[in-house]
This record gives sequence, C-alpha cells and structure tokens, in this order.
Amino acid sequence: MLSTIRAFAPSFNRSPSRAFSTKTQMDSITKNPDARISRWASNSISTEARVTSEETPITLQEWQGWGSTSPMPTMVTEIIEELKALEKNIDAQMSFGGNGGKLQGYFKTQEDKKHRATYQALGSSEQKLQFFSARQIACRLLGSRDYLCQKCWLPFEDCMCSRVKHCPLWSGARFWLYMHPKDFLRQNNTGKLLLQVFGVEATTLCLYGISEHEDIMWSAFKSAGKSKVCCLYPNKNATSKSVQDAFSSELSTKQERTQQTTDGDGILNFILIDGTWSNSAAMFNRLREQAKSVWGEDLPCISLTTGSSAMHKLRPQPSWDRTCTAAAAASLLFELQLIPRLSSVGLEKQGEALEDSLEVLLEALTSRRIRMGRSITRKVRHATSFC
Ligand SMILES: [Zn+2]
Repeated sequence: MLSTIRAFAPSFNRSPSRAFSTKTQMDSITKNPDARISRWASNSISTEARVTSEETPITLQEWQGWGSTSPMPTMVTEIIEELKALEKNIDAQMSFGGNGGKLQGYFKTQEDKKHRATYQALGSSEQKLQFFSARQIACRLLGSRDYLCQKCWLPFEDCMCSRVKHCPLWSGARFWLYMHPKDFLRQNNTGKLLLQVFGVEATTLCLYGISEHEDIMWSAFKSAGKSKVCCLYPNKNATSKSVQDAFSSELSTKQERTQQTTDGDGILNFILIDGTWSNSAAMFNRLREQAKSVWGEDLPCISLTTGSSAMHKLRPQPSWDRTCTAAAAASLLFELQLIPRLSSVGLEKQGEALEDSLEVLLEALTSRRIRMGRSITRKVRHATSFC
C-alpha cells in the first residue's frame, strides 16, 4: 500500500526542484553553525544544498530519535564511515538536496561510481538488497540531520508535532511498520503517524532489508505464534481473509484452538507494508518467503472490506484509488471495532486519532506548499510515480 500521501506525490516526489526540502544557505548556517557550504549544485533547477554536520557520527540516541527502537544497524554505520572516508579521499564534501537526503554535486558523481561498483561485486541478491537498504538509510540519516524534525519528519519550520495528539493503542494489538528505505524520513510518508500517535511501544518500525530490524520482527513473530500475526494487504487475494472472517468466527478446528491457546502473549501483531505501490510487491514477497521459512506456511493476510479512507472523505480525488498506510491502519481499527469481543477496547477512538493526525499532516504539507508558492493542484498523470 502507499506509504505517502498520494495527493502530494506528483510534485513532491518528482520535481527536481525539491518541493519540500528547500533550505536556504542562511537556514543551513543558522540551524547548523558547524555546517560548511562547500559545493552547490550548479544547475539552474536545484540551487540549494545541505551539507552534513562535520565529522559527528550518528549516535544511538540520534538513530532512535527517528522512531527506531533497535541498535544502530551495523551496515548503515559502515556505509556512513565509508562516505566520510570518501569525502577525505576526494576532498569534496557531501551535500544533500532532494526530498530526503539525496546526494548532490561532485560528491554524488564520485559516490555513484563507488557504490555501483560495490553493488555489482556483491554475490547474492540478499547482499545486494541489504547494501541497497543500508545505503539509502545512511544517506537519509545524514541528509536529514539538523533539517527535519525527528518526530514528524518535516522541516523544522513546518513541524506539526504540537498538533498531533498521542493516543494509546489497545494493549492487545501491535503494529509493525514494514517500511521501504525510500520512504524512511519522507515528509509525506504517513506510516510515521502511527509512531507519533501510538508511540514506539505499540508500533515498531521495521526497515525492509535491514537485517537487525527484520530479525527483531521475526523473532517477535516466532514467539507470538502464527495465529497472532497477520499482514494487512491492500488487495484481496486468494489467501487473504476479511477482518470479520479472521477474528470474529469461533475457532473452527481443534488444531486451531490448540494453536491459539498455546501461542505467545496473545497480542495481535499487524504488519503494515509501508512502501510505494511498486515497491510493496517485493516487500510482500519477502515477508511471504520468511513466513515459509519460519512456519513452513504462507503468511496470514487480511484485507479491508470497507476500503474507506479518511483522505477520501477529506479530499475526494480520482487519483485516490488506493489508501495510504495510516488511513489503512485507521480503517483496520474501525473494522476490528465491529468484532463483538473487541467492541469495548476503544478501537474507534484510536482510529479517529490516527485520522486526525492525517488531517494535521495534510494541512502541514499544504501550508508548506502555499508558503513556498507552489501549486497544490494534483496532477493525476504523475500520481503513480514515486522516488
Ligand atoms: Zn515535528
């Protein structure tokens, strides 16, 4: 499913003029007095760049500030060290532009050559995926530092945190936000709203291809047991059940009854695939492969029957053909609320809190665009393209 607010995808994601991340040279100096402006993009479209904070490494505290509860991933640390070493070797400082930490200028040209060679030399697709993911995360961490608010992932001047209300999630449920690295620290990502509204106790960020994250997630699933794990998949398919079918029916077989009473702590684990439409198929396949290797069976899936989204109600648009991650999670909570045994745990209120946060994000993104003199008109023809 889509991780981003689709309405803004066209110009936010495609425009080389960096719809969101425009930051003036003065801003950069003000916010980060240590930053050195060494190299500006020379083309006429992208006239601004951000540079990273001197030599400061990314601490555990900084890493976890972005919403992860894991240790700093080893491969991300290694890649950051390599980027720093490359700066010294070629005597050119890293600079970032784009929406979410894209390298720019001479450093980018050199780094491109280097990382492409490294990627090609890797032997397996697994190694390639891990390298790809770690490099994406490394660049986003460096490019977003001193620029984005760690909680809402918006530039400081657009921080919406004071308007997002925290709401505890029902203790019987836990979300796993399985996020594509390209959506990590994206300003129009909506999965982050779950982290903000429910907190990291109830929502765990799991970055696709980051082995530390995936290990933590699958270890939790093993303890929980297969009957307590399900993946919310946007499309109905042969193996997915409706929420009603998955949770309301009395257990039908003795085997299922035995399974459910012996599984873990009883908490329901919901996986939300938080990536663009085109990336989500690969992410889903990876989950399925891991489920097969852990349980020898397919990943349990559920699909929404309502398909309704807060964003549809807010701004009906023909381009809204699929729901975004936060709206899907809210819809899931509303559907669970209809299950008699779950009707009194406040799921509706929790879904509404998530929808409210979506409205806040939409307002913040709209205000930013208006302030920057950019159109808020959507262009459907661009709506399917990300990154
Ligand atoms: Zn904020």
